[in-house]
Amino acid sequence: MIKKLLPALNLRFLILLLAFSAALSTLVGSFYSIYQVQKEQLTSHTLKSNLAYAQKLASATDNFLKAALQQLEYSAKIIEQLPNDVQLLNKEAIRLNLQTDSFNSVVINIHGVISATSPHLEKIIDKPINSPGALEALKEKRPLISKPYMSAAGNLIVFISQPLFDSKGNYLGYIGGSLYLKEKNILNALLEQHYYEGGSYLYVVSSNKRILYHPEANRIGSLVTNNTVVDAVLNGEKGTSKISNSQNKAMLAGYAPVASSGWGIVAQRPLKATLSSLDILTIEVVKRTIPIALITFVFIGLFAHFIARPLKRLADTANTLNDPVSLEKLKAVKSWYFESEKLKLAMLKGVSILQMQIGQLRHDAQTDPLTGTHNRRSLNRLLEQLISQQTPLAILEIDIDFFKRVNDTFGHDKGDETLKSLTDIIKKLSRKDDIVARIGGEEFVLVLPNENSESAFKIAERLREIVESTKIDTIGYITVSIGIATWPEHGTDIDQVYKCADKALYYAKEHGRNRCVIADVN
Ligand code: GH3
Ligand code: MG
Ligand code: MG
Repeated sequence: MIKKLLPALNLRFLILLLAFSAALSTLVGSFYSIYQVQKEQLTSHTLKSNLAYAQKLASATDNFLKAALQQLEYSAKIIEQLPNDVQLLNKEAIRLNLQTDSFNSVVINIHGVISATSPHLEKIIDKPINSPGALEALKEKRPLISKPYMSAAGNLIVFISQPLFDSKGNYLGYIGGSLYLKEKNILNALLEQHYYEGGSYLYVVSSNKRILYHPEANRIGSLVTNNTVVDAVLNGEKGTSKISNSQNKAMLAGYAPVASSGWGIVAQRPLKATLSSLDILTIEVVKRTIPIALITFVFIGLFAHFIARPLKRLADTANTLNDPVSLEKLKAVKSWYFESEKLKLAMLKGVSILQMQIGQLRHDAQTDPLTGTHNRRSLNRLLEQLISQQTPLAILEIDIDFFKRVNDTFGHDKGDETLKSLTDIIKKLSRKDDIVARIGGEEFVLVLPNENSESAFKIAERLREIVESTKIDTIGYITVSIGIATWPEHGTDIDQVYKCADKALYYAKEHGRNRCVIADVN
């Protein structure tokens, strides 16, 4: 099967295949590596910028929390001077709440009960409060930022507080501000400036893994579990990571802790969004490369064609080396490179030797070696041609008289020379279209196309006379007898004509030799 298929593969196809696959693999390989390098760069750039962003926002949040504690501290100092002045307490609560954007509400607790609030909530005034933030503040007696919890009024809050002490250092209570995490607050106002394009977002987690801020409001307050980034950032670490988010989307995250509160900030961007520009870039590169690639492939195709062409021509010619035109065909092959030129020269040499030998063989097969005239086979072929062309012709059958004696007297070699001398005489007398052949020992045939018996007889007579009067070296003079027959008068086929000429020759021999006789027409 493979053997059958292989000859169908030609050099041009193979060169094309080689060049095409090399070009294609280079192209695909470089696309792939460019894509990978760009992907790594984009990923690393996004990770770094997310880290930078998380750090920046962590520090902004830290600053805000510190500022909030300072504001509370300032109010605490004022209140500590007149802790029982309800009017002052209310004024300070209102001022803190309205003058600054820091808190959604402010509360002042003196001796375990609420002394003032802003906004004003009459029903809780003078009552104790046991929200986790309040209890923690009362217990810890120090500046605090609470973990998020649900307030009595049903708000998810973070409570920031400062303790109050009298001039003797006795604990009085606290002043605190709440951030309503699910409502508009200073924290989300700060964080919402984040650039949310392409699915990027950030979120903030408290030290107990509750979400303090998230662009999806319904996630605020929920618990984040099984998240390595959250674990790391709450451990006080900053860094970058490739993770899957809650919807199993691959994300590039940067994270940084907020030192003052133990919170963590995570900024992340979907990997897909990060790489989308790369996909567009890659498509653009491919689009721009295609014309160049096509031109290259056309160039490769042409080149393959020009490389293969001389070899193809040489191969085609190799099938017909015995054809006489193959030499011309070979010479016409444009062998423009080394191997093809060498091959061409070798084939030219081979073909000329081959054709010379073929020519020689053909000549030998047609020629009488002693006299160089046509032999009987060649004569028959030529006669057949003439007859097929309906060319009338006369046959002169020429036989040397008493040739045996020549041989006997002067030797066989001299006999041969005599045969050659007679050939010269016959050739000299014959015209271009006449055929001279030696068909037996000392028997010759002269074929005269387009001659009838009479004109052939005249020619035969002239030949006879020339032979008779020509002196041959050593031997002297010889004579010939000639039998004459014509086609188509003496027979429809050539054998009949031969027979008639034979008979006429026999008659000439019988009747004294050195004479020409026209055969009888039957
Ligand atoms: P005729 O007049 O009856 O033709 O007598 P002839 O002696 O010529 O005839 P014959 O047929 O008796 O003899 C032919 C001779 O031709 C016999 C042979 O020695 C000679 N002969 C035939 N072929 C060659 C040849 O190739 N070279 C030489 N030298 N002699 C040849
Ligand atoms: Mg004879
Ligand atoms: Mg003879």
